[in-house]
Amino acid sequence: MKKDYYEILGVSRDASPEEIKAAYRRLAKKYHPDLNPENRKEAEEKFKEISEAYEVLMDPEKRKLYDMYGHEGVSQTFGEGGFTWDKFTHFQDLEDILKEFFGDRGTIFDWIFGGEKRTEREKGGNIKVRVPLTLEEISEGAKKRIKFSRYERCPECGGKGGETGVCSRCGGRGRIREIRRSFFGYMETVTTCPVCRGSGEEIRRICNACHGEGRIRKNVTVEVRIPPGVGEGNYITLRGEGHAGRRGGPPGDLIVLIEEKPHPVFTRDGDDIKVVVPVSFTTAVLGGEIEVPVLNGRKEKIKIPPGTRPGSRFVLRGRGLPSLRGGVKGDEIVEITIWTPRKLSRKARELLERLEEVLESPPSHIPPENV
Ligand SMILES: [Zn+2]
Ligand SMILES: [Zn+2]
Repeated sequence: MKKDYYEILGVSRDASPEEIKAAYRRLAKKYHPDLNPENRKEAEEKFKEISEAYEVLMDPEKRKLYDMYGHEGVSQTFGEGGFTWDKFTHFQDLEDILKEFFGDRGTIFDWIFGGEKRTEREKGGNIKVRVPLTLEEISEGAKKRIKFSRYERCPECGGKGGETGVCSRCGGRGRIREIRRSFFGYMETVTTCPVCRGSGEEIRRICNACHGEGRIRKNVTVEVRIPPGVGEGNYITLRGEGHAGRRGGPPGDLIVLIEEKPHPVFTRDGDDIKVVVPVSFTTAVLGGEIEVPVLNGRKEKIKIPPGTRPGSRFVLRGRGLPSLRGGVKGDEIVEITIWTPRKLSRKARELLERLEEVLESPPSHIPPENV
């Protein structure tokens, strides 16, 4: 047998809303589960019971129905399963009462919604920045200071956006349940509360510094360490270095996109680097020592054998780029091409003409398998 709502609150049948409120206030403190650690379960039940009575008696419509038909009269309002916390619409009253009693220390919702994940604050956005690197920087690894603008938590209001209270729309849950009639019957949907956007809190006085956003735009510099061996399209994620979320939401990430600057000397192929080195016709024929560029800016000498042809390749082991996965470094590939001078001194012309007379003629063509 369900107990009478007036009895539960200990008020007379003609009690005014003020009297009902006062009674609820008194009982809410009495049955707060945190103050009844020995019989917590019982206190929670009692607390729910007085809240149900309050829900009905504070609403003129529901109270009228209850007065006329008893529990039968309001069974429609709560639906199957009776009163549950999500049908309670006076969370603000409840919080005011408990605030007075407990101060700002926690809220009632932690235990009312128990294991239920209460609210989800909107996460701040990610920020993408491009960092162009030279092959030298890629080879050595680099520390880069990146300047950009992002939202940071407002120092004035600590990210709350102002003075806050429990959201009147969702009662602090951050979500609302809606029953919709559809073609297939009734459907229950749970959506993020449009008023508080999931934070469960509503702003009562807006912060002047951030206009209620809880975050302000700032120019910042972030240092990022780039490991050796990265490549175009690689990215590094710096967790929490993105935009602060609205109203105290967690920050997004900073995504550092690696770009490779074109190099004036080398092209890259994975961990290998390649350079094309022109040699004179005479050196190619006679063989000799040539200088080739290497990544650190200095040059290195290599020997090429007599009869070196264009397209011949020489490998400098380990002079390429470090591997991102560790292990051995890549190589430097030196490709030989023959340098054909366009300007000749008179003497050079004479010598070449005499050379032409004594050299054997080239074959009519290069066989396809040798191309
Ligand atoms: Zn809300
Ligand atoms: Zn603020």
